[in-house]
Amino acid sequence: MARSEPAVEPRACSERHSLKSPRAYSLASVSKPIFSGQTKDDLAAWMAAAGEPGFRTSQILEWHYEKRALRFEDMTSLPAALRSQLAEGFELTPLHEVRSQLSVDGTRKFLFRLHDDNLVESVLIPASPALYGSAADRRTLCVSSQVGCAFDCQFCASGLAGFTRNLDPGEIVSQILEAERISGEKVNNVVFMGMGEPLANYRNLLKAVEILNAEWGVGIGARRITVSTSGVAPRIRDLADQPLAIRLALSLHGATDEVRQRIMPVNRKYPLEVLFEALQYWRSRKKQKVTFEYIMIDGLNDTPEQAAELAKRARSISAKVNLIPYNSVADFPWARSTRQAQKDFLSVLERAGVPATIRLEKGHDIDAACGQLRLREETESAAATEPATTSDLS
Ligand code: SAH
Repeated sequence: MARSEPAVEPRACSERHSLKSPRAYSLASVSKPIFSGQTKDDLAAWMAAAGEPGFRTSQILEWHYEKRALRFEDMTSLPAALRSQLAEGFELTPLHEVRSQLSVDGTRKFLFRLHDDNLVESVLIPASPALYGSAADRRTLCVSSQVGCAFDCQFCASGLAGFTRNLDPGEIVSQILEAERISGEKVNNVVFMGMGEPLANYRNLLKAVEILNAEWGVGIGARRITVSTSGVAPRIRDLADQPLAIRLALSLHGATDEVRQRIMPVNRKYPLEVLFEALQYWRSRKKQKVTFEYIMIDGLNDTPEQAAELAKRARSISAKVNLIPYNSVADFPWARSTRQAQKDFLSVLERAGVPATIRLEKGHDIDAACGQLRLREETESAAATEPATTSDLS
């Protein structure tokens, strides 16, 4: 498994929170390779090594991605011996649903347990107009790319227990397959805005995107896949060099180094000047506009001066801006900007000709902000003798 170095030192799990530590990743806990993490070429090579004819690769991909068989033994057009060989060689269903929560607005949040007992979450957001850039977003799944996060953003629940490990490509792809299986709905947009920093798990991210995008795989158009980053500048450049029309969202959250640095330690490593050079490079290679995510925190980053700076920065690379009212997280001192401050901020951007929206809130009642459900599950598990296994969905 590819493991890239986090740009910021991981924080010790117990530093701020008395959570039950997730089990750290170790070789002993590695199970079989995950089937959804294999590309068509990987599987063709496996079939060749097993002495199977080439057409078996397409057959098995069809069982997995079209017919959605949940056991190799159910893939009845394959010879029985091959089915048992596959079952010995691969894990077909690597995620186990621990909890699902359905919000009054239709947002569904899933909490999954991995083979090593770590937890990840995904959020299914129902149809809404153009959240992340495409003409009419239908069902969007917000996926996690890592267990925990090393970046220590001072507003985000995901980083509170530190970084545990990268997700395998198959663990990323399986979030979409499981969300579709449980909800019975087709996912047609994927955003990497769940737990973790996708560009710090770069190789696994690329492989997952390849499988999500492939005709033989999940079949989601590249323009319907958005990678969101806290600003890992060198990786933005690398991604720009990839021949993929995926979208990029940048979590900006501060329009000057001074403000951004207060809440995003990554800004010390890649200050705005370096970051914007990378974004300019992205723009020179791609047609799609970048989207800035900007959470609005009372008195910190919601002043008219920040709005004016943000407008300048957005115009410099023709970016769009998504303003997101801050969702409170118990460990942090921040409060959401007032409605008036949100509106005033938006008008500064609009007057400067910057396309901007205030994101409609979804799933507030189910802790749908990044990292919040896992935080609750771990806090409850730590308090209880038995791990919680309830499903809040009827
Ligand atoms: N590491 C990547 C992907 C994580 S998603 C990145 O930073 O972009 C991060 C997004 O989650 C942020 O842009 C923000 O939109 C959202 N987010 C995290 N904590 C939040 C909070 N407390 N309130 C509202 N949005 C939050």
